[in-house]
Amino acid sequence: MPASPQLQQAAEALTRNGFDVYLANEPAHAKLVFFDRILPTIKHKLVSWGDSLTMHSTGVLDELLADPAIEVIKTFDPETTPAEIIERRRRALLTDLFLTGSNAVTADGKLVNLDMIGNRTAALQFGPKKVVIFAGANKIVPDLPTAIDRVKNHAAPLNAKRHNMPTPCAKSGYCHDCSSPKRICNTWTIIDKCFPPGRIKVVLIEGEWGL
Ligand code: SF4
Repeated sequence: MPASPQLQQAAEALTRNGFDVYLANEPAHAKLVFFDRILPTIKHKLVSWGDSLTMHSTGVLDELLADPAIEVIKTFDPETTPAEIIERRRRALLTDLFLTGSNAVTADGKLVNLDMIGNRTAALQFGPKKVVIFAGANKIVPDLPTAIDRVKNHAAPLNAKRHNMPTPCAKSGYCHDCSSPKRICNTWTIIDKCFPPGRIKVVLIEGEWGL
């Protein structure tokens, strides 16, 4: 099936900005693209991930976790302590491959993300040798101001609600620029261009996936 004009335009812009881009019809297709076309090009002995509903929806992580030849650093693990989770997230910055999503993708090919702790935004910037991002068409926005608005008044409130955070946005659905100790909006990354080219690979998926 040919890609929608929206995905095609974003793909062309991301490619101009140095990202490797792949198109998928749905999450199951994104998984095939990942295992057939992306993973064989990456040394992937040590893998980790940052929170992303879209990435989880592909099933990629489950398959990597089931492969005894791959060490996956579990950055979310209810059976361990908060201190151990932070230590694992530090180690995740030195992996061969880091998987995550993006809060927004601008039509001119920038990745826009906002984190509470910074483990995901840090990994996008530097550390893991390769990063693979899974993003639905709903993440594509016209420009940077729209991306920031999308993150603050859509994704962040829904994420706060999803994680049962006692923040005002979890109730209202929009940002109050709060000073809550549980504020989930602390550190941004805006990646204009991928350096070195091809370090970040973006799988754009038709339809609405993630928040
Ligand atoms: S700054 Fe506070 S109110 Fe605004 S989206 Fe983030 S957590 Fe919610």
